[in-house]
Amino acid sequence: MANTYCESCMMPFVKDPGPRESERYCSLCFKNGKLCYEGSDLKEFQRVCYESMVRRGTNKFMARLYTFMIRFAPRWKNRR
Ligand SMILES: [Zn+2]
Repeated sequence: MANTYCESCMMPFVKDPGPRESERYCSLCFKNGKLCYEGSDLKEFQRVCYESMVRRGTNKFMARLYTFMIRFAPRWKNRR
């Protein structure tokens, strides 16, 4: 079954500003054929995501909530 949200940051694809290159990741996580953040540090990835959401004008409260949700994404689930 196709994903409806990004496996890396949990963003629903319907909210993806696109264009999306990957079936599994959103256009912000996966660009030019690779993951933008290739590290394995969840905290660092969360910080990068939070800052980019705030930059794109996301309300800070919502950005914190979305950032918190990232830990449940398939990409990070086994790293807790
Ligand atoms: Zn993503």
